[in-house]
Amino acid sequence: MGAADDDGPGRSMSGAPGRGPLSFLRLFGAVRESSHRDSNGARGRGPAVTPALSWLFYAIATLTVTALIVATGGAPTSLAHLYYLPILYMAVRYGVTAAVISSVIAGIAVGPWMITSSPATDRQTTSAWLVRLGLFVLVGVVAAVLARSRSRQLNVMVRDVYVAQGLRAAVRQDTIRVHYQPLIDLTEGDVIGFEALCRWHDSKGRAIPPDRFIPEAERTGVIMALGRRVLHRAVDQGHRWADRGRRGLLITVNVSAVQLSEPAFLADLIEVVQADGGDAFQLCLEITETAIIADPVRALATLRQARALGVTVALDDFGTGLSSLAYLAEFPIDIIKIDRSFVAAIGTDPKSHALVRAMVQMAHALGALTIAEGIETADQLKALRALGCAIGQGYYLGFPGDVDEVEWEPREMVPANEDSVDTGAPR
Ligand code: C2E
Ligand code: MG
Ligand code: MG
Repeated sequence: MGAADDDGPGRSMSGAPGRGPLSFLRLFGAVRESSHRDSNGARGRGPAVTPALSWLFYAIATLTVTALIVATGGAPTSLAHLYYLPILYMAVRYGVTAAVISSVIAGIAVGPWMITSSPATDRQTTSAWLVRLGLFVLVGVVAAVLARSRSRQLNVMVRDVYVAQGLRAAVRQDTIRVHYQPLIDLTEGDVIGFEALCRWHDSKGRAIPPDRFIPEAERTGVIMALGRRVLHRAVDQGHRWADRGRRGLLITVNVSAVQLSEPAFLADLIEVVQADGGDAFQLCLEITETAIIADPVRALATLRQARALGVTVALDDFGTGLSSLAYLAEFPIDIIKIDRSFVAAIGTDPKSHALVRAMVQMAHALGALTIAEGIETADQLKALRALGCAIGQGYYLGFPGDVDEVEWEPREMVPANEDSVDTGAPR
């Protein structure tokens, strides 16, 4: 699962090329060294049977069955069922195409015109043969599809267990880190806050991106402990900044659907907010449209209570979920974060530009602020300022980084386009 391409335990088993019991097969290209991933997701190397050798196995098995049928008086006979063995092997190993090819070959082998067809017994009719052929194909294809989906499910389960185990240990050992990405006021260029983004290095020290462990953490419930740790860290950091004179920062923390539906999350929130007890900084929960849809009733109750505690709410990745706009009116949303896919296309795609304009105007009409995510170029910044977007975030303005990497200097604001729109956004 990590980015590193390190060698796994399989290497010592395979030995150097040209040695070991499989070396004669390697000479013919029937077995090759291949990378694979072990159950931990780590890459390893080992001998793998090539398609050429599999097809050879398949041909030998098919010819053996054919010889058996001929030796026992010819088809149709129940011995023809033995063709299913090589078909299933190819289907499970190589999928639907191999299943179809091997079934058709087996079908041809038992065709009424082949040597397997015995003149001594009743010759099978063409329709009986077609049914047999159809069954070969059907069984092969079903086996291929089942094998693929079962192995995918199994992979997901194995990965979930591995990731959850690693994350639990990281939370216990307090090795989960939080990076902070600056939020920039698009009028003056000042740093007005940060998004807290969770960082995890696995037991081999490899950095795992959140997209590759948050879904696993959600499925296994580890997200509760992980989210709690990130929340506490971000709040502690907010206090540290306030103690150093940087008061009133907006600190946003991502909250998953699972957390929103658990009463324990609210208890965590109450704990940190009560410890806060002042205006040192503004805590904001980032939720996604998907998190709302997952359990709207509980989400609404949790967010209302959060609001009552003085915590604000941001709708993350806005425009990418499938939620209804009715939620915007119903839910206590203070900030709308325009997804970076719209920002990326703002200069090139007039429709994206129009959508961003509509999002900014809608947010302002609802009394919410807008944060544009994923600003990567000066042109995007210029366009967003012209549209009246209040806050910006993105690599152009600052990468996520450790606390000591934070750059506080105001960013240089490129002049907004002449058609600058004043939307009356709260600043
Ligand atoms: P997000 O909340 O939308 O966070 C923004 C993501 O965009 C971050 O990715 C950030 O590094 C990346 N980003 C920021 N500026 C740019 C840019 O200019 N260009 C591009 N291409 N990307 C940019 P990251 O840190 O990999 O996080 C990915 C997602 O993982 C987050 O998306 C969030 O949904 C989730 N996540 C991260 N930390 C946590 C956490 O503590 N709890 C939960 N529940 N989810 C988290
Ligand atoms: Mg976010
Ligand atoms: Mg986002």
